[in-house]
Amino acid sequence: MNRIYNFSAGPSMLPLEVLEKAASELVCYGESGMSVMEMSHRSPDYDAIIKDAEAKLRELMNIPDNYKVLFLQGGASTQFAAVPMNLIKRTGKADYIVSGQFSGKAFKEAQKLGYDVKCVATSKEDNFTYVPKVTKDMIRPDAAYLHICFNNTIYGTKYPYIPETDVPIVADMSSCIISEPVDVTKFGVIYAGAQKNMAPAGLTLVIVREDLLDYAEEKMPTMLEWKTMAENDSMYNTPPCYPIYMAKLVYEWILSIGGLDAMKVRNEKKANLLYDYLDSQSYYIAPVQKESRSMMNVTFVTGDAELDKKFVSEAAKLGLKNLKGHKSVGGIRASIYNAMPYEGVETLVNFMKKFAAENPKA
Ligand SMILES: *Cc1c(COP(=O)(O)O)cnc(C)c1O
Repeated sequence: MNRIYNFSAGPSMLPLEVLEKAASELVCYGESGMSVMEMSHRSPDYDAIIKDAEAKLRELMNIPDNYKVLFLQGGASTQFAAVPMNLIKRTGKADYIVSGQFSGKAFKEAQKLGYDVKCVATSKEDNFTYVPKVTKDMIRPDAAYLHICFNNTIYGTKYPYIPETDVPIVADMSSCIISEPVDVTKFGVIYAGAQKNMAPAGLTLVIVREDLLDYAEEKMPTMLEWKTMAENDSMYNTPPCYPIYMAKLVYEWILSIGGLDAMKVRNEKKANLLYDYLDSQSYYIAPVQKESRSMMNVTFVTGDAELDKKFVSEAAKLGLKNLKGHKSVGGIRASIYNAMPYEGVETLVNFMKKFAAENPKA
């Protein structure tokens, strides 16, 4: 069985080296005589794994000591509620930038919980084809936080800047985490579902500045309270043991190829190959404004829904799978996360050329 090029937006490809390493120790991990899946999370073997995962992530992202790293469950979507419940008490209100579907959901969740939240900017009117430019004066100075979604997985946009503000920024980085260096100190909280670029589904990462741990609601569900999780080293209850182990292997893999600087070079090379081709022709249309283009999720259409469909199904026959755009937007989306090899994007571009030549538009 040959592995295909999997362009899924998530869960998505994992590095082959990581899968092979996991396979080699699947049944017996080290001298433990058991699989990581069978281990008590309180055992010394597992304790070493989770501590090592955190240490490797800190090294990779250069996370300062005054930030806590939490390995949680519930997906990024659970954090849509956890964020306001942990932070709003700081001042009683919060600001959101709505640049796509997930930031919209985060905003709505906070509204649903009855909080005073304000959408300070959105690109909804333009189908989220760019990231709104937000200046300091647009953000309420007494907001408890400013929530942003750094990479918009569905629309294929990414922040070309970090908003300038004294308000703590909370960033959903589910689909761009560890794809390139970020200055963690510019953020109060970074969170991410792991299944896009880090590990199998089941793990949610939260990186939170220590001084932001003291504002949780009185009637906070314990499982959503970052402080409880921080005080218990993510072991208040059973953590997602196996995805954390897989994340550790992914962090080691990135460190072994030169860390996030090297990862960025690889990712840029892949994205440039695809965008340069898109810019060089007129058969496919890339709707995203150039300066907001995502390096991880590349969206385009032929302009004909039937041709888009044919493109997706013919590509799949050649082992280029999961190129269908999100159900809410249609078209074509190539998610080219860390684990997608350059050859995968090269094969895709060659297929795009062939498809365009063989399927002239009416
Ligand atoms: C996938 C995704 C989510 C939802 O993640 P879950 O872990 O499935 O809850 C939220 N935000 C972004 C940016 C995503 O890409």
